[in-house]
Amino acid sequence: MLILGIESSCDETAAAVVEDGVRTRSSVVSSQVSTHAIYGGVVPELASRMHIEAIDPVVDQALAQAGVSLDDIDGIAATQGPGLIGALLVGFSYARALAWARNLPLAGVNHLEAHICSLQLLDHRPSFPFIALVVSGGHTNIYLVKGPGAFTLMGQTRDDAAGEAFDKVAKMMGLSYPGGPAIEALAKNGDPEKIKFPRSMLKKDNFDFSFSGLKSAVARHLHEHPDMGPDMSQGRPAHVAAGFQMAVIDVLSTKLIAAAKNKNCFDIGIAGGVSANRTFVDILSKRAERYKMKVFSPPLSLCGDNAAMIAARGWEMIRDNQVCGLGDDVYSRIKSVVPIV
Ligand code: ATP
Ligand code: MG
Ligand code: FE
Repeated sequence: MLILGIESSCDETAAAVVEDGVRTRSSVVSSQVSTHAIYGGVVPELASRMHIEAIDPVVDQALAQAGVSLDDIDGIAATQGPGLIGALLVGFSYARALAWARNLPLAGVNHLEAHICSLQLLDHRPSFPFIALVVSGGHTNIYLVKGPGAFTLMGQTRDDAAGEAFDKVAKMMGLSYPGGPAIEALAKNGDPEKIKFPRSMLKKDNFDFSFSGLKSAVARHLHEHPDMGPDMSQGRPAHVAAGFQMAVIDVLSTKLIAAAKNKNCFDIGIAGGVSANRTFVDILSKRAERYKMKVFSPPLSLCGDNAAMIAARGWEMIRDNQVCGLGDDVYSRIKSVVPIV
């Protein structure tokens, strides 16, 4: 079964063709990041306009790269939420029109569930039940995944998302947007033990996170040390980046392993933009090994927003007959409240 996936929740216009929910036949991502970088963050109105311009060629390219035409497609999957309303509307309306014109089933995909489903596209997949972390620009959520589509939220951030903290700290340090890759690169020249930043909520007996205190601690440190030295690529700036990154990694890894122990799981999957951080993947994998746990992370092309993950989740939904009506609308925040265990 061939599913055409469409993603437009933030600043990437993406389309992909995925076979049977697991084989990526094509995945095209048109990123607007260089346009938004000038403003230091995503400008929603600009994002919507750029999605409108990109969506048609991106879909055509995805079909061409897969070597198929619309006649070969069995279903459409598009991100319904959460995300920027104007941005979501472009991809979802496009998908609705296509589904109507072609008389195809349409899945309205939850973007966060789709990030978890990026793990399905790997050759080696986590086995159920497993613990999943969606760690991105807007979310830091831990889930217990009992089976296909069976996601139970175990914990989430109380304030900033981990990716948001990377972006804000990078901005404070005058680094480029998005901040994650810039901080990770700078941190390679620094000593993570030199400046100890706080680890929030580590001792709490739950799986929630908080990153705003860490962000403030970095701001305070920068304020107290206005002289960053002659070279922004090493010395104090690099130690700040390394110390901050290690604080985030420490909290994420500790809580993930605790969640896996709590649910007696041995597989841990991470997904979303911050899972592109190789230092995080390496440290988490080493720590997990001590408990005989295995860590699964997507390749770089599937960490950030893409449409292959949307098609992977959409395939499950269409198979299970969880299809949308043509009158269904997009949503900016989480629609269904998943019980917290
Ligand atoms: P959401 O998925 O919550 O709706 P989003 O789609 O904007 O948010 P993604 O595109 O999945 O988020 O991820 C973007 C985030 O990932 C940014 O905050 C970015 O700084 C972060 N990021 C990207 N690469 C890295 C990296 N190497 N290290 C840390 N963070 C990174
Ligand atoms: Mg993005
Ligand atoms: Fe995302």
